[in-house]
Amino acid sequence: MSLSDCGQSLRGAERFKARLVSGLWQMMLSLLGIHTIKSVPRKRATKITRIPKVKHQTHGDHYNLQEIYEQLNATYFGNRLKLTITWFGTPNRKVKSQRILGLYCFESNQIKVHRLLDHPHFPPYFVSYVIYHEMLHSVHPPKKKKRGRWQIHHGEFKQSEKCFLEYEQARNFEKKNLNTFFMSREDIYGRAQ
Ligand SMILES: [Zn+2]
Repeated sequence: MSLSDCGQSLRGAERFKARLVSGLWQMMLSLLGIHTIKSVPRKRATKITRIPKVKHQTHGDHYNLQEIYEQLNATYFGNRLKLTITWFGTPNRKVKSQRILGLYCFESNQIKVHRLLDHPHFPPYFVSYVIYHEMLHSVHPPKKKKRGRWQIHHGEFKQSEKCFLEYEQARNFEKKNLNTFFMSREDIYGRAQ
């Protein structure tokens, strides 16, 4: 599997973006590329969640998002992606049912990664996987399916996702550490000691 058709898909993404209209529809589409961890699996993959605007910040305590993004862009996308990336969220807050680890805003071409991941508990390959996943959203825009519904993680998206070299490792980490995604950073740090 390769991403050699990346240029073609990028044009598709531009066409998709050009179709965006104002109002509620735009708000919904701007938040589609969300990588969410849920405690209980749901049938509907799409959840419209408002993420407050954040101050652009790439340096974390442990990870530098810009460095990881540039490395992934060179390795998998031939440096063709022109996106920005920033941390968002409050790591010292527990959540009950779902945690958004990363999201891609089509409107601003920006990736946002939750600050919870800025901790040694989360290995570099997992943080890279979350960022790679969000980068793919810019390459593979949602596709319209039957009855006007949009599919976000469609076949082409999933195929490209498996191009990530540590895909299996990252998915296994996600499964084995499911509980920690709902904890606060302090709770995880305490457990990791
Ligand atoms: Zn996604």
